[in-house]
Amino acid sequence: MFGECHAHLFMDGENYKEAVRRHSGQVDESDLRRHLQAYAHSGVTFLRDGGDYLGVSRRGKELAGEYGIDYRTPVFAIHKEGYYGGIVGRAFSNLKEYHRLVLEAAAQGCDFIKIMTTGIMDFATDGSITGEALAADEVREMIHIAHEEGFAVMSHTNGDQAVRDVVEAGVDSVEHGNFMSRDTLDLLAESQTVWVPTIATIYNLIDNGRFENTVLKNLYERASENLCYAYEKGVKTALGSDAGAYCVPHGRGTVDEYEIYRKNLGYSEKTDGWIAQGECIIRKRFRRQT
Ligand SMILES: [Zn+2]
Repeated sequence: MFGECHAHLFMDGENYKEAVRRHSGQVDESDLRRHLQAYAHSGVTFLRDGGDYLGVSRRGKELAGEYGIDYRTPVFAIHKEGYYGGIVGRAFSNLKEYHRLVLEAAAQGCDFIKIMTTGIMDFATDGSITGEALAADEVREMIHIAHEEGFAVMSHTNGDQAVRDVVEAGVDSVEHGNFMSRDTLDLLAESQTVWVPTIATIYNLIDNGRFENTVLKNLYERASENLCYAYEKGVKTALGSDAGAYCVPHGRGTVDEYEIYRKNLGYSEKTDGWIAQGECIIRKRFRRQT
């Protein structure tokens, strides 16, 4: 089985608030072990986390080896105060503070830096992106600082211009990347950036009842179209389901994302080869350089 290149071990795919409550004060190790076991059971031996502010991912790194998992963590994600990202990380208000957080993540044993540059898709209304995107020059500086400290950067980014901004700034992987135009996908194809589309977060909500099916189906269709175009153009990509998010269970989420790729691109060696190539880049780049 392929690796899972975007998960959050602190969430359980069911109830975010409950997960936060469970790990507050002290990491609930039995919960963490249950999730790691789910990966081992699904044959997933490589795991890249998207971070949390409760120390779950940090502890996960210490336990993962027991389950035969090569686990990479940013410890916590970093977002700008007043912008999206509080659910998985810590905030800065200026670049000096940002730099301090990068050094703190490093001191806590991070393998790479995770940043948040935009909001998420608004499933509840029309699927537009919530909140505002960070300014391009600030994002460029954030990526630069992390690179200078020797870390690869994983960026949570949605929206056409915002994706352009991170790709042009040399980000190592772009997460979600919803609503990219073909021009931006072309740019991505020429870059070294790996795209992790996390389509299971949309697909698994269809027929679930919490959100409008028409909105979800439309979003899924757009994501599929971009996936097919990316495949055609040779964009670098890797499997990541955002496991831990609502309706995306650990272990199964990776299998679901793989199925989405194959359904759209074909059940072929070529599809597998494309995924393997991107994962290989993630494995090489998202580790601490010694
Ligand atoms: Zn995530």
